[in-house]
Amino acid sequence: MAHGTVRGGISALKDKRVRHLPVRAKSPARESFGGKALGRGDRFLGVDVGSVTTKIALTDGDGQIVYEDYIRNEGGPISAMLEGFKRLADGGWTEGVRYVGTTGSGRLLAKVIIGADVVKNEISSHAKAASFLFPDIGTLIDIGGQDSKIVFFKDGYPVGFNMNTVCAAGTGSFLDHQAARLGIPIEEFGEWALRSKSPARIAGRCGVFAESDLIHKQQMGYRKEDLIAGLCAALAANYVTNVARGQKIRPRVVFQGGVAANVGIRKALEDKLGLPITVPPHFKVMGAWGAALLARERFLEDPSRPTAFRGVSRIAFSSARSRGFECSDCANSCEIQEIIVEDRVVARWGSKCGKWEDLGRRSPAALDEAGACR
Ligand code: SF4
Repeated sequence: MAHGTVRGGISALKDKRVRHLPVRAKSPARESFGGKALGRGDRFLGVDVGSVTTKIALTDGDGQIVYEDYIRNEGGPISAMLEGFKRLADGGWTEGVRYVGTTGSGRLLAKVIIGADVVKNEISSHAKAASFLFPDIGTLIDIGGQDSKIVFFKDGYPVGFNMNTVCAAGTGSFLDHQAARLGIPIEEFGEWALRSKSPARIAGRCGVFAESDLIHKQQMGYRKEDLIAGLCAALAANYVTNVARGQKIRPRVVFQGGVAANVGIRKALEDKLGLPITVPPHFKVMGAWGAALLARERFLEDPSRPTAFRGVSRIAFSSARSRGFECSDCANSCEIQEIIVEDRVVARWGSKCGKWEDLGRRSPAALDEAGACR
């Protein structure tokens, strides 16, 4: 069994290759829940809008998941969100939402469309859900559709992290592409890897190398299961080098994100780290769950604060879209994106000077749509 590069203890977290997080005092909200501020039927909602998928998690007052959904952003993140809310409404989950959190690369988009109370980055949200479920967590591995991250914990609290958004090797999109190229459904990819008795040696330094080496070995007649097992091993090694960057991986190791479904990658990571890996039951929606937990914490800090949430039914049956235009008022030529909910512009971004933050200003895109002269 191969072992990852392991150096130092938690002191290794002082290393400059790790981005440090402020160590926070224990959250009072974690202890304060005794039902005083919350009644039966109170819910917290988390929405995680990523580049490939949108995830929704609904919790009860104790923070336990009562509903989850995972939607591919095939028609774009806005239609995925609206579809998610339709499914929530169809399931009868329309009442009791007290506070809402959003996360993911589309968290601001989600905030303006649904009306969120808390907006948090992916690291905070994933770490929150993982430590809620596993207070003894040492390391969190998260591999999603287009990025990979690692979070280091001390005494149940996140103290440092790394993120890899540059190299696609090992991410969900990369694996989808390789599975399609090899002609097997992505759901069976991991099972194929486990069948191998003699994994091929695949260069996994980056996605481009891995793919060209895979094609080369395929042309040499390697068996499909050996190619896939070799690819999983290469991607696990790539993760340890490029994301963990040689930092100490402390148990308990929790693996979440869409790629955690892949038993081949899971086994390759266990072999590489020499440690057992825990995959939580709701591994696909941990970011959304964390956002819901953070919203719950914020609510418990001051339950009298009103929510900004627009409501499940209202969102499910509303219209939302985005449109873009280029501002030609100066040489910067900013690309402005505007978000329109129920025919009203609710947000704009992309302007360097801030002039388009004035939502009362009619944009060239709106004038074009209305057929009006500028
Ligand atoms: S938004 Fe402002 S900075 Fe950007 S092109 Fe227009 S005037 Fe220039």
